[in-house]
Amino acid sequence: MSNDTPMNLQDAIQCDIDDPLSRFRERFHLPTDEDGKPLIYFCGNSLGLMPRTAFDDVTAELEDWRDLAVEGHLNGRRPWLPYHESFRQQGARLVGALPVEVVFMNTLTTNLHLLMASFYRPDSTRFKILSDGPGFPSDTYALQSQIRWHGFDPQEGMVVLKPREGENILRDEDVLEAIDQHRDELAMVMFSGVNYFTGQAYDIQNIGKRCQKHGIPFGLDLAHAAGNIDLQLHDHGVDFAAWCTYKYINCGPGSVAGAFVHQRHADDQERVRLAGWWGNDPATRFRMDENPQFVAQPGAEGWQVSNPPIFSMAPLHSSLSIFDEAGIGALRARSKKLTGYLESCIDAIGSDHYQIVTPREEDRRGAQISIRVVGDASALQEALQAAGIVTDFRPPDVVRVAPTALYNSFEEIHRFAGVLAQVATSPTPPGGD
Ligand SMILES: *Cc1c(COP(=O)(O)O)cnc(C)c1O
Repeated sequence: MSNDTPMNLQDAIQCDIDDPLSRFRERFHLPTDEDGKPLIYFCGNSLGLMPRTAFDDVTAELEDWRDLAVEGHLNGRRPWLPYHESFRQQGARLVGALPVEVVFMNTLTTNLHLLMASFYRPDSTRFKILSDGPGFPSDTYALQSQIRWHGFDPQEGMVVLKPREGENILRDEDVLEAIDQHRDELAMVMFSGVNYFTGQAYDIQNIGKRCQKHGIPFGLDLAHAAGNIDLQLHDHGVDFAAWCTYKYINCGPGSVAGAFVHQRHADDQERVRLAGWWGNDPATRFRMDENPQFVAQPGAEGWQVSNPPIFSMAPLHSSLSIFDEAGIGALRARSKKLTGYLESCIDAIGSDHYQIVTPREEDRRGAQISIRVVGDASALQEALQAAGIVTDFRPPDVVRVAPTALYNSFEEIHRFAGVLAQVATSPTPPGGD
């Protein structure tokens, strides 16, 4: 907990002026209120803002479809046939992977299922899945249904780790110990990179090592981690991972998701998978033989099923270029400062009013602070809304605030903290005097 007095408004504004990464804010459309005034948007962990050039990305594809029709596959400005290949390098840089390890396809939960089809291979002694709690509903449904689909009982098969009594977040050592304890029953360990609710960033490296030691496949849901923290999926030995691109990666609602498969599985033709033509070797993909045999193309691209959704993929061009230009390392450094500033502002108001659920160590969290409101949480929600500040409320009492490094500012955090302080000290809800 920091006891320093947080920066005042002038210093916050100066911080924005001094930080060269502040200029990336200009690359995004900021949502506005009815009077056209920009809102303060702290919901980038739910739906990222639109890059200004995303409009052109999508328009170009609509135009090529209009003007070229089927010819667009080969002769479009960005030909559709190899469209996904153009994101190999940038996608790999974003998550600390090799180009052969990354592909963009489908949507997040779909990718989890496709990857689990290959990496969750239970038998009668090892059929359990160890995961972090609280789980995001979609992940919980996906895990339960995988267990059932293989003929086991989800009640028995799910090992969901909970923080210790009276604590908000999982201790690293407890996670490792749980893996040790259940090692002979586990068919898979499936964690979030960053937990959606608490904002806790897990110790992926050591969880990965421990899983490898026991020969347990290790998968990650990176919904709240990709584009947020600096991942090293290749070096950390993760077997597989999936993430959406509409949160921190700013590609728009329901946009195409990412998938990672470690290089050590790249040439494994024997591994069971749910296949489709786009995962097949491109040289023979279109073969209309009587009885074609599937030949997986190497790496993550071999897990593709269908041809890619071009309109949903187009904004990746803008988005991934912005990440490349800013650099994920530099963004992460800025993100730590922004989140640290937010933390110090909340601490300064005091834990009688607001308690921080998210870990205190900056390496154990991303661009998010989850705040437990001690008093009237709905009064705070109303006051934030009235002040034009967009946050995410998780009933009954938690507000999630995500100051994203690409477009939020120190000044916005200062203004947000002003509303928190006002509500904390106001005897009646603001506006209700
Ligand atoms: C956002 C999110 C999802 C959403 O899944 P979709 O398949 O994209 O609808 C799933 N899991 C987690 C942990 C998330 O944060």
